[in-house]
Amino acid sequence: MSYFLPHIAAMEGYVPGEQPDEGGFVKLNTNENPYPPSPHVIERLRSTDLDALRLYPDPEATGVRRRLAGLFGVEIDQTMIGNGSDELLSIILRCFAGPGDAVAYPVPTYSYYKKLIHIQGATEATVPFGPDFELPPLLADTAARLILLANPNSPSGTLIPTAAIESLAAFHSGIVVVDEAYVDFADAGCTELLERCPNVIVLRTMSKSFSLAGMRLGFALASAKLIAGMWKVKDHYNVNRLGLAAAEAAIDDIGWMRENARRICATRDELTAGLQRLGFHVWKSAANFVFARVPGTAALNAGSLYEELKRRRVLVRYFNQPGLDDCVRISVGTDKEIGTLFAQLESLLSG
Ligand code: PMP
Repeated sequence: MSYFLPHIAAMEGYVPGEQPDEGGFVKLNTNENPYPPSPHVIERLRSTDLDALRLYPDPEATGVRRRLAGLFGVEIDQTMIGNGSDELLSIILRCFAGPGDAVAYPVPTYSYYKKLIHIQGATEATVPFGPDFELPPLLADTAARLILLANPNSPSGTLIPTAAIESLAAFHSGIVVVDEAYVDFADAGCTELLERCPNVIVLRTMSKSFSLAGMRLGFALASAKLIAGMWKVKDHYNVNRLGLAAAEAAIDDIGWMRENARRICATRDELTAGLQRLGFHVWKSAANFVFARVPGTAALNAGSLYEELKRRRVLVRYFNQPGLDDCVRISVGTDKEIGTLFAQLESLLSG
């Protein structure tokens, strides 16, 4: 007999990418930013009044939300802050998906969606992506209450054009969540749809482009009506004082983020070209990582390549599941880190 609700006892947990305790790894497995956060953020944290930590943080996150409204040209009541975009996903699932409700999403994608759906006792309506990760037309036919779309997608890094998402949102009678965790490395995002599509929620994170994964900051943009509903579900003090201070400073110095994103995109293009030269198939990435199929003729398969790289202190992500198990996902590091990766790859693949 389990103390847990039957559907919780039956579900599997999410397995995050490894976060090794020891240093010395070239860490290209969880899509963190290889560059530090803005000096403005560090300065703001250093000068924060730590005595004030005895007080709760601003439950409205007014300073951050005012900045977001300015940045995206929306009203403050169209914004909401989360403890990472993972928390916002959790709030969304709790708001819109109950037991037995269908939640649709294309696969393969961010596997945390599955866990959140299972927690709700909702059911997954998964629709396979095509070979180049184009939007599957059947996604619109699922009669789901909620559609989740990571764009750019993970692990593929591919981007679906905004126009295709607008058509999906116009056709779909439920909510469409566009999870734009990686969009700062892409040419286009979906925030323009907020004006035209009352059922779209756009999620962003500061974990990737803003180099603040350790701070746990995400935000949602949607109609004031949707945000007001989601607000009822969120924990009142969901982002701590240091997190709010860091978010404000990061937005104030947005040029820092944009310059790092530009550098990462340049390295991504080098990484892609280098992998192609070694015979990998690399999907066109609009993110800070690439998804690459190990050449069938290589001395090692993807699983062994991952293991051997790890032995040589280079961590990439390997998904041991059908359809993905001949590929590796590699986060874009600094040019030096990518140089180390290639030195190891070349020696491993030449046998
Ligand atoms: N969405 C996608 C597609 C992701 O890959 C991630 C990061 N693993 C997240 C959301 C969550 O990001 P965070 O909670 O750090 O904001």
